[in-house]
Amino acid sequence: MVRPYYNVAVDGPSGAGKSTICKAIAAKLDLTYIDTGAMYRAIAYGMIIANVDTFDEAAVVHHLPNCHIDYDAFHQLRLNGQVLGDLIRADNVSLAASTIARYQPVRDYCVALQQDMASNGGCIMDGRDIGTVVLPNAEVKIFLTADVEERAKRRYLQNQEKKIECTYAQVLDDVKKRDQQDTTRIHSPLVQAKDAILVDSSTLDFDATVTTLIHIIQTQTGDGEHHD
Ligand code: C5P
Repeated sequence: MVRPYYNVAVDGPSGAGKSTICKAIAAKLDLTYIDTGAMYRAIAYGMIIANVDTFDEAAVVHHLPNCHIDYDAFHQLRLNGQVLGDLIRADNVSLAASTIARYQPVRDYCVALQQDMASNGGCIMDGRDIGTVVLPNAEVKIFLTADVEERAKRRYLQNQEKKIECTYAQVLDDVKKRDQQDTTRIHSPLVQAKDAILVDSSTLDFDATVTTLIHIIQTQTGDGEHHD
């Protein structure tokens, strides 16, 4: 079976369901899924455990060479050789990731890695700047969003499933803070690429969102192959 030649860029705000949806699409269309947020999270985690003040740009940039990211043979993200798994999903890491993602040297490091991974095509990559900066020539660009309350509700339910203690109000506040940081930063702010297709999943469930995105991908690329 021939692997798809094209790349798919999926951008959007926190909690729009990008990662779970992209994972499902990757499995169905035989694409490689690349979670770029995980890279910023891993670096943020590296800063936190080294007690670096993430609001201090100079300190973060100084420590950056000590945060080496790569993937093991099972495609698991590693920081300095260690697989981090769910350690990077804690709410303090989410917020720290959004903070350090404002700094250009951090972005340069992550973007170079991302572009290298997608250089042979066949990837679906999600993030904030994929269609605008990382893969401006991606064959398909989608901007996936949902109402802020709906996104906070989904994140809250996810946290409950993972037994992460929090209140809905806290989660809503975090999501709003990250939206604010991600959309107003100077370098690569979250913005819909001019040639991206907007999908608002506020009233769509998981399956309907996956179906909508697959339809867009197949229409744009002519990839009719559907793997179940
Ligand atoms: O997607 P996720 O929520 O895991 O990303 C964590 C943070 O990393 C985001 O809030 C965002 O600030 C940053 N990020 C980014 N560019 C990307 C992916 C994530 O700035 N391509």
